Amino acid sequence: MCSHHSFLDGLMSHGLLIDTGIDGLYGRSGAFEDVISRFDELISGFGGGDNAEVVRFPPGMNRALFEKSGYMKSFPQLAGTVHSFDGDDKQHARLLEKIDAGGDWAGDQSATDIVLAPAACYPLYPAVAKRGALPPEGRIYDLNSYCFRHEPSKDPARMQMFRMREYVRIGSPEQVIDFRKVWLERGRELIGRLGVPFDVDVANDPFFGRAGRMMASSQRDQGLKFELLIPIESVEKPTACLSFNYHQDHFGLLWGIQTNTGDVAHTACVGFGMERVALALFKHHGFDTRAWPKAVRAALWG
Ligand code: AMP
Ligand code: ZN
Repeated sequence: MCSHHSFLDGLMSHGLLIDTGIDGLYGRSGAFEDVISRFDELISGFGGGDNAEVVRFPPGMNRALFEKSGYMKSFPQLAGTVHSFDGDDKQHARLLEKIDAGGDWAGDQSATDIVLAPAACYPLYPAVAKRGALPPEGRIYDLNSYCFRHEPSKDPARMQMFRMREYVRIGSPEQVIDFRKVWLERGRELIGRLGVPFDVDVANDPFFGRAGRMMASSQRDQGLKFELLIPIESVEKPTACLSFNYHQDHFGLLWGIQTNTGDVAHTACVGFGMERVALALFKHHGFDTRAWPKAVRAALWG
């Protein structure tokens, strides 16, 4: 690869990502998707023994539930909402005129009941609350969804639409803390098999504004979020590819999830950035998967 070309240029010129004209919104080639599905299988190999319940939500979620989740308090800058036209003929004519004139026609639409999912686990908690109190062993879920975050960037690892695989644990504090500990270990072992350099460190979410800075530092101080980082776009600032989040009783309280003893349930999730891990592999082993190290190929293709 020529050094004056960016990693994104390389991915595109090798046909792995397909330009759409929008930063962070790409098509994916068959070779890219093959890596994603093999990595997906590798994750299942590590988590498959836990008897997680598989649930797949579409990339949109109920707007009322999204509002209740408090996402707009913490991350208004990242949210994406779905709007649609519901006017009459006259309003339609006005809308088309605006589009023709290159004007802003967004205001001629109105919000639908659907917003884009910001993380795979957001639609899960209210659905779990509806099922009633947890069984003594709690519950564990296996999720995978396209997610949206409005953070356009030339860094291919910062996409606006990307997939997040997650395992979510819901139960007593002990069950949930144990889950996170187990996955911190599994995450290291799993990524270790991919032959890429990595590090695990305490982290915080990008909470918005002045109040957000305090939330971020308290999250760090309490060690509620860890990330597994791999250098992709930069060595100094490695990219978070796996996240290990302990929400304490936040979602249990918010949605009214109870354990079998009537206590507020605790929750934790481990999230895998599917594209980020694929990009880390292409970054460190090259654009041609057939030329990847034998051990890495064996870990993925068996
Ligand atoms: P988070 O909820 O921010 O911890 O995100 C969970 C995982 O999703 C992260 O560990 C990343 O691997 C991945 N992820 C987050 N934001 C992006 C993005 N903009 N583009 C691609 N992957 C992302
Ligand atoms: Zn989650």
